[in-house]
Amino acid sequence: MPNNCNVKPENENPFDIVRQQIDASAAILKLSSQEIALLKNPVRELHVSLPVRMDDGTTKVFQGYRVQYNDARGPGKGGIRFHPQETIDTVRALAAWMTWKTALLDLPLGGAKGGVICNPKELSQAELQRLSRAYVRAVYQFIGPDKDVPAPDVYTNPQIMAWMADEYSVISGKPQFGVITGKPISLGGSPGRGDATARGGMYAIREAARVLGIDLSKATVAIQGYGNAGYHAARLCKELFGARVVAACDSQGSVYCEEGIDPEEAYACKCSTTSVCNMDGVETICGDDLLSLDVDILIPAAMENAINSHNAGEVKARIVAELANGPTTPEADEILYANGVHVIPDFLCNAGGVTVSYFEMVQNFYMYRWDEKEVYQKLDQRITDAYQSVWKASCEHNINMRQAAYVVALQRVVEAMKLRGWV
Ligand code: GLU
Repeated sequence: MPNNCNVKPENENPFDIVRQQIDASAAILKLSSQEIALLKNPVRELHVSLPVRMDDGTTKVFQGYRVQYNDARGPGKGGIRFHPQETIDTVRALAAWMTWKTALLDLPLGGAKGGVICNPKELSQAELQRLSRAYVRAVYQFIGPDKDVPAPDVYTNPQIMAWMADEYSVISGKPQFGVITGKPISLGGSPGRGDATARGGMYAIREAARVLGIDLSKATVAIQGYGNAGYHAARLCKELFGARVVAACDSQGSVYCEEGIDPEEAYACKCSTTSVCNMDGVETICGDDLLSLDVDILIPAAMENAINSHNAGEVKARIVAELANGPTTPEADEILYANGVHVIPDFLCNAGGVTVSYFEMVQNFYMYRWDEKEVYQKLDQRITDAYQSVWKASCEHNINMRQAAYVVALQRVVEAMKLRGWV
């Protein structure tokens, strides 16, 4: 088994997982077959072929997708992922999770997701720019500030959002930066968007620790994945709680240090050498050992299916805070619940990103800018409210936190579908 936290250890289809999760909650909510049929299928999806001129003069054709899963509660919202292992079913699953995420946070939005099968690490900046613009040209009719608003996801970033906003504006014949969120601040991005996913996760962890009686200033943390979410989570665990990050990993391997890893040093090491594994004063461990460490908080912040039937029984953390989308399989969920592990489910734990994206949309519509403090306060309120409603549903129905989050979110989506006369 490679010492690598980016590899999917089980060949689970994420969209099958979504459908299993819907079934479990549909029974609790006593949903009708029509309601279930709508919840189990995207309302719309677009498949595109993108011809891109490469630096060597040849043309390469990339496959891309945009799935609008459900827009009963408002315009589609969700990131665009650039990844070599992207599949249409992954995009469908991610779009479904976006639908539950916006509903759970009570944002007036639906759920969508985009993806392009490519390896950005093998593309030059010029090729990446041409690919980003080609994607926007292909989906132009399908997206828009009041229709469907993309954002960053795995391997896409503010610079890519800026190129996409520009391409959309050029075609529209006027600046239309509100078509996308996660932009650089000078192009209408929101203060606080950069670390919003991790910060929202911190507010959720704070609420969970309150419920479970954990003193976060003495807590130990292991982080799986050291991209945007993982790095900021490490930094904020230390900054906001004084917690000790004892382990971290990236696609090249995992490291451990009992006294604590300095989050900034780990980030600097990753930037200069491509991996946290090259840090001084740390022990190298294998990926599965990181998941089974005796820590208070485990933060999966990489890809889908990381915690699965093979390793869930080994998890010793008291809280699993899912900053990644879909890191725990349904079998693993049952094992964790039976073992008393408190899981903060992905579409609650990582909802900070889309929540600040929504704030970015509001600011763009008003042509106004809030300061960071205001963004943090509003984000804290949204995440705290969402956590409380999930915890309440979990206690009321005696179900795990993911099922409880589904119950709250599906109820809201179904209510909107009913009011609109769809079912
Ligand atoms: N890609 C992020 C997510 O999965 C953010 C989506 C957004 O901001 O629209 O939640």
